[in-house]
Amino acid sequence: MARAISLVENDGPEAHAALAALYPHTGRAHIVGVTGAPGTGKSTLVNALAKRYRSRDVTVGIVAVDPTSPFSGGALLGDRIRMRDLAGDPGVFIRSMATRGSLGGLAQATAGVILALDAAGFQRVIVETVGVGQAEVEVASAAHTVVVVAAPGMGDEVQAIKAGVMEIADVFAVNKADREGADHAVLAIEMMQGLAPQATGTSSRAGDGWQPPIIKTVALTGQGVDDLLEAVEAHAAYLHESHLFERRERARVAGELETILRAELLARLRARVPDERLQALVEQVLARELDPYTAAERLLKAGGIP
Ligand code: GDP
Repeated sequence: MARAISLVENDGPEAHAALAALYPHTGRAHIVGVTGAPGTGKSTLVNALAKRYRSRDVTVGIVAVDPTSPFSGGALLGDRIRMRDLAGDPGVFIRSMATRGSLGGLAQATAGVILALDAAGFQRVIVETVGVGQAEVEVASAAHTVVVVAAPGMGDEVQAIKAGVMEIADVFAVNKADREGADHAVLAIEMMQGLAPQATGTSSRAGDGWQPPIIKTVALTGQGVDDLLEAVEAHAAYLHESHLFERRERARVAGELETILRAELLARLRARVPDERLQALVEQVLARELDPYTAAERLLKAGGIP
């Protein structure tokens, strides 16, 4: 598994060949995104959730995306700490991913790892991301069910749920419910939900008829984690019963294809057009001798794209 994952993580012909071979075996895992501000207890909660799944004999793959860690060594250490809890269980596979080059690259690598875990037969794949930037939100929203984690005692509770994250939540977890302010956090989320029609009018998930439940959890003791699991499973069942699953999958696949096409087209164009030509056009646009649309047209023509 580790070797297969390392292979698909790295973009390139070998990775593409591996993904092509794996792809017919995918499409069975339910993908759960878990996102929220740093320190809300996401890692602890994901571990606790994985343990609950294991006690029900459900296999779990975990992808922990950590864009803040500059060293892959940090990610490895994280794996080891997590492994302590779930060690020796072949029904769990954990992979941490640190930042690489660009966040776009991270999204692509993450998608590859999810496919590999899916193909290997893991029934649930949990993708944990820090809900801070647009790219992380995108990684999370590629999941079938998105859990947004908040926690009390982090200043303004609602502040912990950044704009853009609220809209993609299928389930809210108010973690650290052992601390003061948990009920206040629940109330704050309920109030935001009350404002939802205007707030999420443009959301891709607006109007799907699902009211995201708010679950209080204590990840450290496992309290409420069963309820969280039930909420995730209820959402999964709802997606299938309402045929929203097919709609989300179609949108997800179309988006994925578009992302790949964009990257491939650009890469191929760049391979055909000398870098100096591109630089020369940039200079011309900069000097206002040329507008960017005409410059793009010239590049496409130079690359043989009509
Ligand atoms: P992450 O940054 O969101 O992944 O958060 P972590 O899982 O690393 O947890 C941050 C800190 O909060 C750690 O010290 C945890 O032990 C602690 N923590 C996690 N869950 C709970 C909880 O339910 N209650 C309390 N009191 N602390 C928690």
